[in-house]
Amino acid sequence: MKLVVRVKLLPTPVQAAALEATLHACNEAATWAASVVFEKEARRVLELRKHAYAEIRARWGLGAQAAQHAIKKTCDAYTTLKANVRAGRYGRPGSRRHIRASGKPVVFRPQAAQPYDDRMLSWQHQARTVSIWTTAGRLKGVAFTGQAEQLAVLAAHRKGESDLLFRDGKWFLIATCDIDEAAPNTHPAGFLGVDLGMVNIAATSDGERHCGRRINRKREQDRKLRGKLQKKSTKSARRRAKRHAGKEARRAKDINHKISKGIVAEAERTGRGIALETLTGIRERARLRRPQRVKIHSWPFAQLGSFIVYKAKRAGVPVVYVDSAYTSQECSKCHHAARGNRPSQAVFSCRVCGFVDHADRNASHNIAHRGWYVWVCGAQSTAPELTLIA
Ligand SMILES: [Zn+2]
Repeated sequence: MKLVVRVKLLPTPVQAAALEATLHACNEAATWAASVVFEKEARRVLELRKHAYAEIRARWGLGAQAAQHAIKKTCDAYTTLKANVRAGRYGRPGSRRHIRASGKPVVFRPQAAQPYDDRMLSWQHQARTVSIWTTAGRLKGVAFTGQAEQLAVLAAHRKGESDLLFRDGKWFLIATCDIDEAAPNTHPAGFLGVDLGMVNIAATSDGERHCGRRINRKREQDRKLRGKLQKKSTKSARRRAKRHAGKEARRAKDINHKISKGIVAEAERTGRGIALETLTGIRERARLRRPQRVKIHSWPFAQLGSFIVYKAKRAGVPVVYVDSAYTSQECSKCHHAARGNRPSQAVFSCRVCGFVDHADRNASHNIAHRGWYVWVCGAQSTAPELTLIA
């Protein structure tokens, strides 16, 4: 399984200047190579290499690997563009968007990401530094930092290329890790249903509810502060808003890591699979009062889902996705579904059999049932193949 880990570089001002000059040189060279592709129709790496390699090395001072990567990056960009044009993402041929997209060469931003292979970048995990090639020579001892869990994954499983990236005034390396998967559990003893929602971010069919009021209250405060800062249009307010948004995202990610870890560990311990609802369901159910809608849209449920999927995959726990229609209105005992079964947001009370439960737990039982059904019907794990950012 491929997993992408992002670490933040902490370069000194001198190192940062060298990194910046390098990124600019690589992207200028790639932009020039893109014009060569456009003129000479040399879309294949080998062809473009013939036309551009020597000049890139001479004019921008790129090393052999960097030049090769700039060429490959250019060809990849055209492949992606071609696929997008073909898929109709720029409208019909002849339309203004279509012409704008395919009528001129690709241009790379000066700070676009640049791939690095093991000959251009080496990692010293103990010292938490990297040694990295730049146009000003090799920089040694560039410090990096990241979350403990990610750094452990990185040290144990990093393999292949990494991307150097400059975003919002900060330097990052995006490293690919290749993680072993446990043998999949092909005979799960049932499914653990997970109901994602606004009052409880995740409720399992075991009755465990993850976070709720406290996080929502904090998020509500965050939202208000963000609104206030957005209204002020001063530079410092904008900067503060941005910093604040970053902090909020990191906190949400932390919580998602914790929740997903708990859910996967529980499923693994009890030999079960995990049933998740498709994400469209949450949005549909969010046809509620406006404040709640804001909450639901702002929680990164897709991220939580992807964390559950990759942790499950690593542990060999099967994951199935189930149709989420009416999971909150259906009785998990007699399967009678009606809107009237929900006297309030928190309570489920069946009109037919009289079963009463916490609403989220009832919903998660339905999801667990449906997960089992999907599994028994022979639909294998429908979890998408994915590369994710931890
Ligand atoms: Zn019932």
